Amino acid sequence: MSERLVEMLSAKDIQTRVKELGAEITQAYKDKPLVLVVVLKGSFIFAADLCRHIDLPLRVDFLGVRSYGEGTETSGVVQITQDLSKPIAGEHVLIVEDIVDTGLTIAHLMDLFRTRGPKSVNVCALLHKPARARVSVKVDYLGFTIEDKFVVGYGLDFAERHRNIPYIGIVERD
Ligand code: 5GP
Repeated sequence: MSERLVEMLSAKDIQTRVKELGAEITQAYKDKPLVLVVVLKGSFIFAADLCRHIDLPLRVDFLGVRSYGEGTETSGVVQITQDLSKPIAGEHVLIVEDIVDTGLTIAHLMDLFRTRGPKSVNVCALLHKPARARVSVKVDYLGFTIEDKFVVGYGLDFAERHRNIPYIGIVERD
């Protein structure tokens, strides 16, 4: 069985949109200090690019989350595999997520973070697949809305592969 990647979003289109998102976030927070919470592992490349387009006093922290196992369907159970390194009480928090699919991960993280007393919690996601929503979540800063396809690249994996591809693509097999 052969496998190939079909491009859905080019590296250039992603870079253009990420730059716009950075400008939007910079404008919205108006010099207020911000904590970027990067949801590992899929968001690491998006967050690395995004943070360089945000002109604010910034702290970056990482959160390890697992909901998939090796398959392409969410298990519906969101497990924290690595917690934040510092408290977020009194801080403006922006969760940086690669993709909002069923919405279960973001809904869970919003509930969890609100118990920790931040000044605000918002969400920035590169991709959103509204066709698969199981809970309604508000994405405050969104890169692209995409159709219901399993995508890889730009940090996103399939069984840990393809994270290093600079564009977003679909895996096709014949
Ligand atoms: P949700 O909880 O919204 O269903 O899923 C969120 C997580 O599922 C994402 O952070 C991502 O890790 C994974 N995910 C959802 N859709 C895709 C997809 O199309 N491709 C990849 N590689 N991961 C996905």
